[in-house]
Amino acid sequence: MGSKRTYKCIKCDYTVLTSAGKDWGMIAVVDTYICNSCKNIVDVCIDREGETYKRHDILFKNMKNKHRLDLTCPKCSSKTDLIKWKTRLRPCPKCDDGKMEVDPDGKEILWD
Ligand SMILES: [Zn+2]
Ligand SMILES: [Zn+2]
Repeated sequence: MGSKRTYKCIKCDYTVLTSAGKDWGMIAVVDTYICNSCKNIVDVCIDREGETYKRHDILFKNMKNKHRLDLTCPKCSSKTDLIKWKTRLRPCPKCDDGKMEVDPDGKEILWD
């Protein structure tokens, strides 16, 4: 089961619902990235070895092509601007030195 929680920046009002790192669901594995293009924290589907697959490929188990696919931002489709979110520092992508903390009033959901 994968779960997501709401994180909120302590300096600006940016909030995001994220798994905050690698998380395993029934059919997909996600990891958390910052997109430098649209300045969002995004969860991207990957597989267990850290290679990336489109959700369609995972759903239909069409994973015989073991070549590495590019990470794609689910919000703006950028393929070149994703960097791994440092889940210990949890930097905010919207402001300079903000930090994302769990929002106690936020929601927690099971995504898979
Ligand atoms: Zn911020
Ligand atoms: Zn993006």
